[in-house]
Amino acid sequence: MLTLTEQKVIDRIDGMADEMLGFLRDLVRIPTVNPPGENYVDCARLIGDRLKSFGYRVEYVEPEGAPENTSRYPRLNVIGHLEGRQPGPTLHFNGHLDVVPAGAGWTVDPFEGVVRDGKIYGRGVTDQKAGIAASIFAVEAIRREGIRLRGSVEQSATVDEESGGLAGVGYLSQAGYFNRDRIDYVIITEPLNHDRICLGHRGVYWFGVDIHGKSAHGSMPFLGVSAIDAMARLIDRIDRELKPRLNRRVTAMPVEPPEARAATINVNSISGGQAADGMQTPCVADLCSAIFDRRFLIEEDLDGVRREIVELIEELRLEDPVWNWKLNDLLVVHPTMTDPRAELVRQAAAAIEQTVGTRPPLIASPGTYDQKHFARIAGIEQCIAYGPGLLDLAHQADEFCRIDHLIAAGKAMALTTMRLLDGC
Ligand SMILES: [Zn+2]
Repeated sequence: MLTLTEQKVIDRIDGMADEMLGFLRDLVRIPTVNPPGENYVDCARLIGDRLKSFGYRVEYVEPEGAPENTSRYPRLNVIGHLEGRQPGPTLHFNGHLDVVPAGAGWTVDPFEGVVRDGKIYGRGVTDQKAGIAASIFAVEAIRREGIRLRGSVEQSATVDEESGGLAGVGYLSQAGYFNRDRIDYVIITEPLNHDRICLGHRGVYWFGVDIHGKSAHGSMPFLGVSAIDAMARLIDRIDRELKPRLNRRVTAMPVEPPEARAATINVNSISGGQAADGMQTPCVADLCSAIFDRRFLIEEDLDGVRREIVELIEELRLEDPVWNWKLNDLLVVHPTMTDPRAELVRQAAAAIEQTVGTRPPLIASPGTYDQKHFARIAGIEQCIAYGPGLLDLAHQADEFCRIDHLIAAGKAMALTTMRLLDGC
C-alpha cells in the first residue's frame, strides 16, 4: 500500500511525463559518442544546468591527469548535491553520459530523439540516458511535492563507462568524490530492464600471450620454429580442454542470461608473422600474439584463473620445448555483488513491485559496468543497477526506450528514495 504522500509523488511523475521526455530528448540530441568521447562538456553542462534549476549544488569534475582527457576530447563529470534534513544517509544516483557509436542499420536518425508509438528512439536512449532522466525527475517529483528528505540525494553523470570508466566513476572514486564515508547507497541507472534489479557482475581478466619462435626461410620451414603454429596449438588446447572445464564451472550468482553463469574464455585478437596487407616475404613467423578475454566467477580467484592458463601453456610447451612465451596482464576487474538482503535491495524491490506490478527478479550482469569502481575503490557495499530500458536493445540499431517504462522506473526510483531517506 502506498501512503497518501507516496501516491501524490507518483501522480506528480505522471504529470511531469512530457517534461521528462523533453529532457531525455535533449540528452539524446547531444551525440556523446565514445570512442572518441565527443560533446561530453555540452552534455555534462546540460545535466548540471537542469540539476541547478532543481535546487542542487552542482560541481563539475575534470579528471586531471587522465590520458583520455585531451583538449580535443575533454572529459567532464558532473555531480549534483541536494541537501535534506540532517543527519541522514546519502543516496547517490549515477548514470553514464557516453554512448557507443551509432553504427549501421538505423531507420531513424540516431541523434534526433524521434518519438513514435510510445517509444523514444536514439543511440544511448536505453543505454543509458533514459536512466539519467528517470532519476533526476524521480527526485524532482518529491521536491515539487514539498517533501523534505532526511539525508541527501546526489546525482552524477559520468564519462567513459563504455570504455572502462577510468576517467569517470573510476577517477571520482580514486579522488575521493565517491566514498563509503559519505555515500550509503548507490543506484546506477543502467538498463537491465525496468522490472529487474541487478546486484553485480562477473569478473574480467584480459591477458595477452606472446609466443616467440625462430625465423627461417619459408622454403625450409623445418629450420625455424613457427610461432603461429604454436599459437594455433594453444588455441586448440584451450578449445578442447579449457572451455569444457570452464563450462562446467557455474556460479551461484543469478547472472542473466543463464548461459553466462559458467566461466568463459574468448580470443579477442590474434596477430602473427607479417602484416597481411603488406608485401610478403618467405619467412617463418618468429612472433605470434593473441589477446584473450576470460570472464571469471565470484567463486574463482584471479591467481587460480591465471595459474590455470600458465599450466596449460607450460604443458603444451613441454611437449614441444622449442618456443618461448610470455603472458601479459592487460585488464583485471574483480567480480562484485551486493548482498540481496541489503536495505537498498529490499526497498528497491518493494518499490518496483508496487509501481511496475511484479516482484523484480534479482539478477547479475554477464559484463561489467561502473559498479566495480563503486564497490572496489570507493568501498560502497550497497550498490545496485536499476533503470528503464531493455538490456537487449543496448548498442543495437534502432535502440529505443518505451515511455511507459521510463515513467514506471521513475516512480520506482522515487518510492525507493522516499523510503530510504524517510521523506515526510
Ligand atoms: Zn551502459
